[in-house]
Amino acid sequence: MMLQVNGIETFYGETQALFGPSLEVGEAEVVALLGPNGAGKTTTIRSILGLSPPRRGQIRFDGHDITTLPTHKISRLGIGWVPDDRRVFPTLTGKRNLALGTRRTRFRSWSEDEMCEIFSALQHLLRRECENMSGGELQMVAISRALMGSPGIVLLDEPSQGLAPKIVQDVLKTILRLKEAGIACLLVEQNALAALEVSDRAYVMDRGRIIHEGPAQDLLDNAPLRRRLIGM
Ligand code: ATP
Repeated sequence: MMLQVNGIETFYGETQALFGPSLEVGEAEVVALLGPNGAGKTTTIRSILGLSPPRRGQIRFDGHDITTLPTHKISRLGIGWVPDDRRVFPTLTGKRNLALGTRRTRFRSWSEDEMCEIFSALQHLLRRECENMSGGELQMVAISRALMGSPGIVLLDEPSQGLAPKIVQDVLKTILRLKEAGIACLLVEQNALAALEVSDRAYVMDRGRIIHEGPAQDLLDNAPLRRRLIGM
């Protein structure tokens, strides 16, 4: 297993947000993390990244116990992050933003040229300032920047948020390209059906707990189960 989250309990001050969820992501596996607003999906990502470290439980990545490591050390081990607000530097070009994400890990590293081969749309974004880019273009830069950090896994928080349906499909297709390149993905999405289409397995959270886990196809095939769990 690439990533193992084991019974974590995470708090904001005295308020408990996570009540012991456990999940796993294997090598080159795409795993969807679904559930309603406030279920704890973002908090799970924040816990993995060391931004909101859990008080109890354990998180392991690639053989390391990362539960209490600071964020910069966690990212250097090979965990990439695409935050929901994308966090690119608006006045810098795509190229500069990518350069700022560059890091070596034990995992495969990517040159700019290789990335332009994978993401055909990226080439013309390299010279443009990010403040002149559309939402879909920014998302492409944010995903490419994560790839420049030579990750073994990428955590994507609502990558399709605010994007037109056609662009959502493009962004989700890039996740399949990451998988082909051997990179695992943990995908948080409001757009559950689209996420399930590109995922191998899915977890559903509610009120800080995992309430379902199984193959993504099960939720796609079983509409009553899906409606009960994710309301669509
Ligand atoms: P969303 O899709 O709305 O982002 P989510 O599943 O990602 O939902 P979280 O954002 O992880 O859910 O929220 C889990 C719980 O933690 C919620 O009850 C939320 O109100 C609470 N919470 C989240 N961020 C904070 C914070 N900074 N301070 C206090 N409570 C928070």
